Amino acid sequence: MRTKLAAGNWKMNGLTEALSELAGMADAAAGASEVLICPPFTLVGAAAAAASGIAIGGQDCHAAASGAHTGDVSAAMLKDAGASHVILGHSERRTDHNERNSDVNAKCVAAWDAGLTVVLCVGESLEQREAANTLEIIGGQLAASVPDGATGHNLVIAYEPIWAIGTGKVPSTDQIGEVHDFMRARLEKRFGSGVGRSVRLLYGGSVKPSNATEIFAVSNVDGALVGGASLKAADFVPIIEALNAASQDG
Ligand code: PEP
Repeated sequence: MRTKLAAGNWKMNGLTEALSELAGMADAAAGASEVLICPPFTLVGAAAAAASGIAIGGQDCHAAASGAHTGDVSAAMLKDAGASHVILGHSERRTDHNERNSDVNAKCVAAWDAGLTVVLCVGESLEQREAANTLEIIGGQLAASVPDGATGHNLVIAYEPIWAIGTGKVPSTDQIGEVHDFMRARLEKRFGSGVGRSVRLLYGGSVKPSNATEIFAVSNVDGALVGGASLKAADFVPIIEALNAASQDG
């Protein structure tokens, strides 16, 4: 039985006043699903202090524990600030910062060493989907980005087709289901059925209150990683509620 997870990625959005949104999410966050918000680094400590029933995460961390890396943040620093999770390998990091699977893998090891749960993102570009390479790309990212030692506690995978992020375009439920079933099979093959079945698989990419219920009904979708619609309680609460309802449905 996997506890469903509604995760919000605030990206580079949010000043101190944005923390008031967390209070608006608290009631929904008391339901059957877990709720995670990943604000920018500057708000992690304050969000962890303010959040009630909501886990707080970072959006990236460095692969090293400490050292001469100006502008970077270590996994231990996130943990020290009150984070329990970190997003790694988001397509915006892979594109903007040239992060390769090997970088994501090293960061994941560092995050696990610090005791953080990793929300590790994979996803294909539009060109890759149109060339019918989606499963090959996802399989390759999973194999190379996820280190040995994964468990249902330290790892969550987010399938985020790059072409669906922030675009309003969403894959069909059949397309989401195909990738999620594939990822489940790959995890079971590599880590054994116990671990493979316990890792939660999130869908991410233009999730909104209007499409959440149908996405959460897809097999092997254990929740969502939500960007734009996680910034305001008015948008995120209906998504959490849809996930709470899906939890009740089993
Ligand atoms: C994301 O960037 O993780 C994301 C899913 O964004 P959006 O929901 O805005 O498409």
